[in-house]
Amino acid sequence: MPALHLQRYIRDERLLPLADKVLHGERLTFEDGLLLYESPDLSGIGAMAHHSRLQRHGRKTYYVQSRRLSYTNICHTHCQFCAFQAKPGDPRAYALSAEDALRELSKPENAKVQELHMTSGHNPKLRIEYFEDLFRKIKAAFPKIHLKVFTMVEMDYYARVSGISVEAFLDRCVAAGLESCPGGGAEIFDPEIREKICIGKKDADTWLRVAELCHSKGVPTNCTMLYGHIEEARHRVDHLLKLRALQDRTGGFLAYIPLAYQIEDNELGKTYEILETTGVQDLREIAVARLLLDNIPHIKAYWVMITEGLAQIAQNYGANDLDGTIIEEEIAHQAGAKTPQHLTKAHLERLIREAGFEPVERDNLYHTMA
Ligand code: SF4
Repeated sequence: MPALHLQRYIRDERLLPLADKVLHGERLTFEDGLLLYESPDLSGIGAMAHHSRLQRHGRKTYYVQSRRLSYTNICHTHCQFCAFQAKPGDPRAYALSAEDALRELSKPENAKVQELHMTSGHNPKLRIEYFEDLFRKIKAAFPKIHLKVFTMVEMDYYARVSGISVEAFLDRCVAAGLESCPGGGAEIFDPEIREKICIGKKDADTWLRVAELCHSKGVPTNCTMLYGHIEEARHRVDHLLKLRALQDRTGGFLAYIPLAYQIEDNELGKTYEILETTGVQDLREIAVARLLLDNIPHIKAYWVMITEGLAQIAQNYGANDLDGTIIEEEIAHQAGAKTPQHLTKAHLERLIREAGFEPVERDNLYHTMA
């Protein structure tokens, strides 16, 4: 998009210096980030984000055929925003054996799955030997499935209950088949907000340290932020810039996913008056991410949380990835997400094409599928 063309889309004059920086590939600052959250000119912000997206990816939008599987919902941590956790004794509580997982993966609807995404509760009965057994058996039965497992705090937790260092835990998991990690558990890095929404969960430093360790071992990860609860713009900018700083050091983040807080069936929604996020908020999160996270290649519109329709539009606001078919998502749905539990490949491709973009099926590492 030529310079004059981009600036013609901007109605809030305060954004013009930012547009100039975007056009010249200059990095945006903390104050720029605050302005991106404050300005009412969403279409101007979207135009800048779309420019960056076109520069990097043209009109390609990626997706993957993926499957979610949570090996346990038993969790000894207590995140106030979470409707997924079950305490021991809860009739909903479960922990899958490796054989249960294999049975699930053998179902016909998983035949084309490229990526297995596993995040779960913090269950003190599961140790390193459980994960080694689980990963080895899955890889033996389904060698083509990419294993993407553990939030950064989950990895820290299971290393501690196993009585070994995070590094030793990671090395043993990689030897058993772990290939990458999803980006959850980051929530909001600010300690005061973190204390209110996920008391007892490990802090930002732990999350960032474990991510850095993964990257140093050649294990790529994604990164996330939970928005739309009690945080303010300054907390979001701080969070995004911490991710950007780590990416400058390691280059190990593949994608960033803004996660919209879901208000149902969790303590946070009952403690504070929080309204569901709106389309404008959701689109702004994607656009701001594309502009501030200039070193993270992929920005995902996670349709499970923001709806399929908005994910379609988000492709014009900086998103270049619609995540995937996501068979059997549980965590967001238990907190009230109204979207389907999975989409077919044909439907995802239609969502992308209808918006004027080119669907590209990828594997976990963004290699194009034949
Ligand atoms: S978000 Fe994860 S760690 Fe927190 S309570 Fe839920 S399952 Fe446990």
